[in-house]
Amino acid sequence: MNDTKTALVTGANKGIGFAIAQGLGAAGFTVAAGARDDARREQAVDRLRAAGADAFGVALDVTSDDSVAAAAAAVEKAAGRLDVLVNNAGISGRTGDGIQDPTTLDLDVVRTVIETNVLGVVRVTNALLPLLRRADSPRIVNMSSNMGSLTLQTGPILAAYAPSKSMLNSLTAQYARRLADTNVIVNAACPGYVATDFTGFNAPRTPEQGAAIAIRLATLPDDGPRGGFFDDEGAVPW
Ligand code: NDP
Repeated sequence: MNDTKTALVTGANKGIGFAIAQGLGAAGFTVAAGARDDARREQAVDRLRAAGADAFGVALDVTSDDSVAAAAAAVEKAAGRLDVLVNNAGISGRTGDGIQDPTTLDLDVVRTVIETNVLGVVRVTNALLPLLRRADSPRIVNMSSNMGSLTLQTGPILAAYAPSKSMLNSLTAQYARRLADTNVIVNAACPGYVATDFTGFNAPRTPEQGAAIAIRLATLPDDGPRGGFFDDEGAVPW
């Protein structure tokens, strides 16, 4: 089997996902850049290669069973196994005056956000798990947010987005419990408040800074933490 480790990053065409892909490429991984739009994916792969990474594109819409199955088949064909999965793709969902008001919540917004941020992660993870199990030290990183922390209750009122990340955190714990007696290590990450399309580029941290915790969790040693929620400072309260 090929010695080079392979990492699949979802939503790798821009923002934090691109920075994670670039960082893992610099760390020696072959990067499978998952992105749903053909042109944006090809541009991202070109930029990753220009930065020196060994990268290839994987067509991947996390809301589509067919797309995710095809992506898993593409990774198997290219690499035979998967060492790292970073579930980064995420959306905020429509807001009004910068918030999602629970008292007037549009349930279609909730459904859309859950479909991507929660069900998308389950869909992708379960499709890739057979390939992850073939690796010596498989790692799964779920890109969450401290807005999903029920302890912190931070940020604007976002009654679709914040609960989607709370559920993602809870799922992270369930996966870690289920995989406790395996070599698959699963954790959730919070990137901090990062300047990307997501925040209208109006935030203090760079994508590279936001990517750092995901890269750390993607490269944990075999005795590293499992089923936790971390940012650059350490554990984030659930
Ligand atoms: P961006 O909006 O810049 O990037 C989001 C990425 O997700 C894009 O590549 C987008 O692709 C992709 N994506 C969205 N929906 C799908 C889908 N259905 N299938 C595949 N890819 C999809 O956001 P960020 O980089 O800021 O956010 C990345 C992650 O970090 C998200 O999970 C977000 O919730 C989380 N996060 C971000 C924070 C921040 O301050 N920026 C703070 C806390 C958490 P496309 O270009 O095609 O839309």
